[in-house]
Amino acid sequence: MSEESKNAIVEIQNLKKAFGDHVVLDGINLSVRPGEKVVVLGPSGSGKSTMLRCINELEVPTSGKIFVNGVEVTNPKTNLNKVREHLGMVFQRFNLWPHKTVVENVMLAQQIVLKVAEEPARRKALELLKSVGLLEKANDYPASLSGGQQQRVAIARALAMEPKVMLFDEPTSALDPELVGEVLSVMKRLADSGMTMIVVTHEIGFAREVADRVVFMDGGHIIEEGSPEEILVAPKEERTKSFLARVL
Ligand code: ADP
Ligand code: MG
Repeated sequence: MSEESKNAIVEIQNLKKAFGDHVVLDGINLSVRPGEKVVVLGPSGSGKSTMLRCINELEVPTSGKIFVNGVEVTNPKTNLNKVREHLGMVFQRFNLWPHKTVVENVMLAQQIVLKVAEEPARRKALELLKSVGLLEKANDYPASLSGGQQQRVAIARALAMEPKVMLFDEPTSALDPELVGEVLSVMKRLADSGMTMIVVTHEIGFAREVADRVVFMDGGHIIEEGSPEEILVAPKEERTKSFLARVL
């Protein structure tokens, strides 16, 4: 590993992914430092979700290497379950267990994966629900919550595993506009707490406020990256400019 890789918590080296002969990621290099907040922008189909899914090996890369916390996830000998414990993932669709209460949803992975006993799992779940502003919903079922509340539960559920990195894939895209803010503010607080975050989103305001670095992807390539000012205010590449003109 290079010097840079040693300091990185997520390191992506020359990542390529094809589905059949459709090349979706064509040589992605990205190195994320502990505590860094990286926002990934790009048009639909540019490979953003596939890149996130390669990090936890929900997709197997065609070639290239990925390291998480110094462990090469692309090495077939790596115990992926162990690595995935360090990676929290929040999707556009929250997929809470419908027949479990809110607090049980946050307890479950702790009990099953981390073998935490019921009472400590509950205590931690309640603490996390409090931190996302949903303590009073603990004993309700997901269906009775708004989409924004369900997504906050999904974030609490991911945090219950004490991940080192949180991956967000368009966490607010499926929400009614009036519910977006409550989810983004939970994410902002998480960012302030020092969590390492890789966030795919079209929320430019969030990128401007929270990102240490903005990465713009198109056609399976990173077209440019830099500070929010560099990419959002003064992008150099035509493709970035036309994308921003469409979303701003
Ligand atoms: P984004 O998240 O930027 O919208 P994706 O990573 O979802 O982009 O998709 C990139 C491209 O890969 C798209 O053309 C999509 O159709 C294709 N793709 C994604 N997943 C699969 C899959 N499982 N099988 C075949 N093609 C896929
Ligand atoms: Mg996507």
